[in-house]
This record gives sequence, structure tokens and C-alpha cells, in this order.
Amino acid sequence: MSEATGFGDVNEDDIFDVSIIGGGPVGLYAAYYAGLRGMKVKIIDSLAQLGGQLTALYPEKLIFDVAGFPKVFAKTLVDNLTEQAFQYNPAVVLEEKIVTLESSENLVKLSSEKSVSHYSKSVIITAGVGAFSPRKLDLPKFNDLEGKGIEYFVTDKSRYAGKRLLIVGGGDSAFDWALNLHGVAESITLIHRTDKFRAHEDTVVKVLELPITVKTFHEVKEIHGDDYIKGLTIYHNKSKDEEFHEVDEVLMTLGFLTNLGPIKQWGLDLSGNAIKVNSRMETSIPRVYGAGDIVDYEGKLKLIATGFGEAAIAANHAKALVDPNSKVNPGHSSENVPEKKAH
Ligand SMILES: Cc1cc2nc3c(=O)[nH]c(=O)nc-3n(C[C@H](O)[C@H](O)[C@H](O)COP(=O)(O)OP(=O)(O)OC[C@H]3O[C@@H](n4cnc5c(N)ncnc54)[C@H](O)[C@@H]3O)c2cc1C
Repeated sequence: MSEATGFGDVNEDDIFDVSIIGGGPVGLYAAYYAGLRGMKVKIIDSLAQLGGQLTALYPEKLIFDVAGFPKVFAKTLVDNLTEQAFQYNPAVVLEEKIVTLESSENLVKLSSEKSVSHYSKSVIITAGVGAFSPRKLDLPKFNDLEGKGIEYFVTDKSRYAGKRLLIVGGGDSAFDWALNLHGVAESITLIHRTDKFRAHEDTVVKVLELPITVKTFHEVKEIHGDDYIKGLTIYHNKSKDEEFHEVDEVLMTLGFLTNLGPIKQWGLDLSGNAIKVNSRMETSIPRVYGAGDIVDYEGKLKLIATGFGEAAIAANHAKALVDPNSKVNPGHSSENVPEKKAH
């Protein structure tokens, strides 16, 4: 394909049927479905690992609301989704953040921060919350001790074995980790600046029943340690009473600053920080679909379960667009398994 691309000469082999921006659970499931439909698929993610929020934020957390799994560890779900998607050998590009999207009549061009161009006949944006960064504390030594006792994510529970852990925050992550690390860490203290928690009630109740110290109206005043965290001075934000707390590890769970970043500049119709889609998961740009946490429509729920359905809708409509002779409905998956092919 040359002039017809709208982007000059593009080698036919470099053109994919669908490129998926974001290799989180929804992107992986979209890759599976597109593969099942015989499409030539590419997955692109800015992180070094597939799995999105599940890998980056809570790999060892149990998830209870994915159909067919009474409970499943986030990392196990990612492993299974990856295995399912990889049956069809998608091309996988990691550590590349897509910064521009341009479309011509029959092709979409994506360009990454590394100045690499990706061409495809359709695109599914499954970029979750976009590029996200953890909320930090503006305190001396905070930045110096990041990764030296101050962490935002638990990627390996064994790191906390026998350690005195202090968790800062009162949301789902704080309570999920308090629950999950109970029995691993020697002791857990959770501090939160109010007495109102933004976590599932059930998890809060479970944590409060355990020998975990929960200090409400407490905040961090000072960080101690040179090469590694040694302790924190925390204070009661009403009485102003201070106390020194000796710790081995601190988990900061103050939420994330989310930003669609470059995606906001792509000319898509947006609703706040989300991309508007219709019932076919089409965005306002032809050939560009969306699914998962990044999209918005009336009644949208940000859940893995709903994201899977959206991924299936987006991939099947992309298939019918790229191959107009094909039906949107895939039929039974057991009757429609194409030959495995490497791309
Ligand atoms: C602590 C916690 C617990 C949760 N528990 C549950 C639960 O029990 N059940 C449930 O259903 N949901 C839960 N969720 C929500 C769930 O994780 C999300 O709904 C889900 O991850 C959305 O998947 P996604 O694939 O749409 O996006 P994400 O998982 O956010 O993945 C998006 C991917 O896109 C990549 N990306 C973004 N922008 C670009 C770009 N420009 N270029 C390249 N790559 C890009 C990111 O790096 C990321 O890997 C939880 C979330 C948190 C934080």
C-alpha cells in the first residue's frame, strides 16, 4: 500500500488490522477477540509489563467480581488473559507511550514518544486512566526515600514479611493492602486524615476486626531516614499531638493523579477525562474504537467485567469495518477458531 495510505509509502507488512493502545485487562481481552476473528493485532503499552492497573497497582489482590472466577488474584487474571490473547500471536510493543494519533481515509497512524510509527486499519483505545502517577507528599526527604522504604505499589508481598509497615491513606488500596498484608507484615498501622474511609465497607469492617492499628485524623509531618526509611513523625490534625513511629516500610496510598495526557490532543470527543463512545464503542474518529476505563457513555461502570464486554463489542465491530465481508457477530467461539498465525 502506498499513495492510498494518506501517509506516503507504508510497507504492507507494517500495517496491522487493529492496534490496541493499552495492554491492561481490557486491551488484552480485545486482543484475544481480534485474534479470534483472524485479525492481525498489535498491543502497545507505555509500561514495561502487560496487565495495566492489575499488574502495576495490585497484582496480589484478590478480585471477586470477574465472571467465572469466584476469586482470582489480579496477577493470575493477567496471566490467563495474556495466555488467551497470545494464542493468536499478537505483536506486543512495550515501553512505548503513544503520543499522537492521525487518521486518513483508510488508515490510522500512531506515533510514540520514541518516534516510532505504527500503522493500522483500526485502533482500539484501552488506555485506562491514561498515564497515571501516584499522589505524593510535599515533604523533605520524600523524594529521596522513594523506593527506599517508601512505595506506592505492592508488587511482591514477601518484601513485607516480618516488617513493621505503615500505610498512609483511607481508600480501597489502603484497606485492601492492610487486609492482604495482615499475617505477612509483623505489624500494620494505617493512618488516615479523616474518619471517613473511601474503601469497600466490607473490607473496612474486616480490617477493623483484625489486630491492625487504625489511626484516624492522623497525617505525616516528617520523614526520617537517610539511606532507607527509619520512621515517621505523625500528628493528630485536630489536637496537633505528635508521635514518632518507627517503621521498616511505608506504603503511600493517596490515590493517583490521572491525566489523559496526549490523548486529549487527538481530537476525540471527550467527557471529562474519558472518551465518548457510542453503543458500537466507536469514538468520534472513524476507525478508532474505545473500551474499558477510558470510555464513557450513559450508564458506564468502570469495572473489569464491563470492560470485557466493551472490548468484545469494539473488536467485533472493528473486524466488520476492516473486512466488510465479515459479520459483526463472531458466532460461537468454538466454531470460529482460525489457524494460529504468527505476525
Ligand atoms: C486498588 C484497585 C482495586 C480494584 N479492584 C477491582 C475489582 O475488584 N474489580 C473490578 O472490576 N475492578 C477493580 N479495579 C478497577 C480495574 O482495575 C479497572 O477497571 C481496570 O484495570 C480497567 O482496565 P483497562 O484495561 O481499561 O485499563 P488499565 O488497567 O488502566 O490499563 C490501561 C493501560 O494503558 C496504558 N496506557 C495508557 N495510556 C497509554 C498511551 N498513551 N500509550 C501506551 N499505553 C498507554 C497504561 O500503561 C495501562 O497499562 C480496581 C482498581 C484499583 C486501583
